[in-house]
This record gives sequence, structure tokens and C-alpha cells, in this order.
Amino acid sequence: MRKVTIFGATGSIGCNTIDLIERDRENYEIVALTGGRNIAKLAQQAISLNAEIAVTAYEDCRDDLRDALAGTGIEVAAGEAALCDVADRPAHWIMSSIVGAAGLAPGLKALEQGTTLALANKESLVTAGALLLGTADAHGAKVLPVDSEHSAVFQALVGEEMEAVERVIITASGGAFRDWPMEKLANATLEAASSHPNWDMGQRITIDSASLFNKALELIETHEYFGIAPDKIEAIIHPESLIHALVGFHDGALMAHVGPHDMRHAIGYALNWPARAELPVERLDLAKIGSLNFKAPDEARYPALRLARWVMEEGGLAGAVFNAAKERALDGFIDGRIGFLQMAQIVENVIEKMSGDGLGLAAITLDTVQDADHMARTYADEFMAIR
Ligand code: NDP
Repeated sequence: MRKVTIFGATGSIGCNTIDLIERDRENYEIVALTGGRNIAKLAQQAISLNAEIAVTAYEDCRDDLRDALAGTGIEVAAGEAALCDVADRPAHWIMSSIVGAAGLAPGLKALEQGTTLALANKESLVTAGALLLGTADAHGAKVLPVDSEHSAVFQALVGEEMEAVERVIITASGGAFRDWPMEKLANATLEAASSHPNWDMGQRITIDSASLFNKALELIETHEYFGIAPDKIEAIIHPESLIHALVGFHDGALMAHVGPHDMRHAIGYALNWPARAELPVERLDLAKIGSLNFKAPDEARYPALRLARWVMEEGGLAGAVFNAAKERALDGFIDGRIGFLQMAQIVENVIEKMSGDGLGLAAITLDTVQDADHMARTYADEFMAIR
């Protein structure tokens, strides 16, 4: 019986993870499920999977969760500290699918118990890659990528020597606005940005896909997770989103990972690794698909990609600053305080403001990362206030 914990159970990745577990229910014991404000869903999941404990990230949701689980015998907890506490409960496999930098602290705590951490929360690698992977090494834990592009690279590298890798190419659908003219982007609405042409995901990552901030995070994630030099990592627009990533080797071979738009593939690979289990995903009909298209991304249109290159070159706390400024700017767009194109401007303003602070040389600890994150959010708020 495998003991499993899911951070961010109520989200898109969390629900897909639960879907796979429910299909093989007798082999799993659920330790903890965590969520945010969707208490009805968290309670329903905890009851249906008979979880040991359900945790909401928000103290003000504690009573609602307690009421929803009254009489079930399922423990209830709330708050950021409670998330870290449950990360300490022994589990063989832990899914990290909280959205945003809030996923870092529980992820680190989980690794300290020497477990396997399935990492959807890309922000952990972007903000503190060295700390996360160093913690895994120090405790004999394993971090497995769940982001579809990184799972694809991981799979393409099975049995290969890293010295033979010449380049990694990750694909981008181009998001909701890939066919929009540049002049229309300034007036892009929240509703339009929240709809992805290929993938069904949480709202924040969907908007990040439209601005290519998601791809920017993934370039950094590739650099951090696989230790590949920035100049060997490329992003390419591939509207069909069927090839998730390609690895180029020094004999000229390109190994592509091709699969449907279904996160249950990457989640299932991490859940069953190193084995491959049968998964309930569509089998692609290549003749029906007919053709696949590729286009170089225009960095003038997508400044996020240029900023990601700066982060990779700078290193240190640059990723924490970039991610926090991006999260805050995204809040601003969602709240209607700034327009779509202003998100990248805010992030660039924050980077310019903080880039003289020796970010690249700073030690990466949870404290320094959280301080840099806090500072970047404060500056982002200031820049948004004067617009
Ligand atoms: P969702 O927004 O759908 O879900 C996010 C989850 O995190 C929910 O359970 C939410 O709770 C919880 N949450 C929100 N804020 C906090 C907080 N401050 N503290 C603790 N928990 C919180 O996101 P996704 O599932 O789309 O994405 C999750 C992660 O996976 C992200 O890092 C994303 O980049 C990554 N990812 C997602 C993919 C996808 O297909 N969705 C693909 C690849 C990577 P509640 O809803 O109850 O408020």
C-alpha cells in the first residue's frame, strides 16, 4: 500500500492526480490532502478518499472545513505552518501542485523526509532550484518533474549521457493570443486570457501561457532541474502542443516526446516511475493529425522570454525576484489594475530596481528567497500603484 499526500488537491493538477489514484484505489492510502479556498471540494475529496487529514492554506477557512468534515473522523488543520506540518507526515509519494511560490516551503519539508516529490509547482525550481535539489540530495529524496515539457525531457533522457546533450527545445502553444496582432494585445481582457486553445488548466497558468510567462518559467525550470546551460535551451511555438519537448544530442539526433494534451500522462509517469503503467489518455491518430507546425517565438512580442534569459544568466535570487514580480503583476491583471502588456513591464521594472542588489551572488536559503520574494512583491505593488 502506497501512502500518498497531495498538495493543491483541489486544483487542476490535484484533481487529475486524484483521478488516477481513484482508478487504482486499493493500492493507495491517502495521508493528507491540501487546498486553499475551495472547501467544499477539499472536504468531498477527503471523504471520498478517506484521507487522514485535510488542510486548508487559509486560517479563515478552518471553521468551514471543520464543519464540512464533522463526524467523519478526518483531522482538520489550517494555515501555512499546517501545510509544512503535514509535509512531515510519512508518505511514499507526495504531489506538489500548489500554485505559486507558496508551494516551496511544504515541498522542502516533504523532501526532508527522503520521499519522492512529484513536482508540478514549477515556481519551487524557479525561485530556489539549488535549495530544492540540494535538500533532495541531502535527504536521499527524489524530485520528479510533472510539468509536461520537463516530464518529456526526463523521459527522452532515460538511458542517455548528459554529456551527449547538445540542446533542449521546449514547445509553447503560443497561448490564447498566438494569432492576435500585437496592437490588439494591449486591450486583451481577463476572460480572453483565461481560455487556453489546447490545455485545460488553472486560471493563473492559463494567463501565463498567453503572456508566455509560463514558458519563461519553464526555460528556467529546465536550466535548474537538468543543469543545462541557458544558451542550450530553446523555446519554440508549436500550436498543436503535441510535441512537448525535444532533446538534441551531439550526433544530431532529436528525441521528441509526443503525446495528447492530458496532464494525466506526466502525472502518471511520475506516479509509476520508474515503471510505465497503462494510463487512461487518448492514443494519438497521427494520420488524422496530419501535420505539426513550428515557429520561432518573437521576443519583442513576448518579453518574458528575454527576462527568463536574464534570470538564468544571473542565477542566485534572480528567479525568486522574477517569479514574485510576475505573480504580483498577474494579481494586478486579474484584479483589473493593469493591462495585459503591463505585466511584463512591471516585472522588468522590478528586475531593474533589484538587479544592482547582488542577486546573483546571494546565498539561497528559504529565508533569503522569502525576503527577495517579499521585496519584489512590494516593488511590483509600488510600480502598479503609479500606473
Ligand atoms: P490551480 O489554480 O488549478 O490549483 C492550485 C491549487 O493550489 C489549488 O488546490 C488551490 O486551492 C491551491 N492554492 C492556491 N493558493 C494557495 C496558497 N497560497 N497556499 C496553498 N495552496 C494554494 O493550479 P494548477 O493545478 O493549474 O497548477 C498547479 C501548479 O502546477 C502550478 O505551479 C502550475 O504552474 C503547475 N502546472 C500546472 C499544469 C496544469 O495543467 N494545470 C501543467 C503544468 C504545471 P483552492 O483552489 O482550493 O483555492
